[in-house]
Amino acid sequence: MTEHTNCLRCGRVLRNTKSIAAGYGPTCKAKVRAAAKAEIIATYKPHQIEKAHELIEQGALIPLRGHIYLAVSSDGTETYRTHRAACNCKAGLKGHHVCKHRIAAHILSLAA
Ligand SMILES: [Zn+2]
Ligand SMILES: [Zn+2]
Repeated sequence: MTEHTNCLRCGRVLRNTKSIAAGYGPTCKAKVRAAAKAEIIATYKPHQIEKAHELIEQGALIPLRGHIYLAVSSDGTETYRTHRAACNCKAGLKGHHVCKHRIAAHILSLAA
């Protein structure tokens, strides 16, 4: 699992092990959770939202620029470029469904 020395949202140094694993300090984690309100609930199904939150709280989405995120695959071997409107993972390229990376990027862009 990736370790993060700084908060992925505000860049502050992370000190406790839980925050280091998640990539967010407690305040930013709460802000990310809070950002996923009406807009997200109206757009995606609950199990999709839960998967996206899991991804975020594993620190698997690293902000690049302009709401584009680098998403790390669960086994850590692949990375994808993700934006709420597009993702280059296998599911994203097929385009039949919105992949969890895109939902996570959407949530994070609201929390930015
Ligand atoms: Zn923070
Ligand atoms: Zn994806």
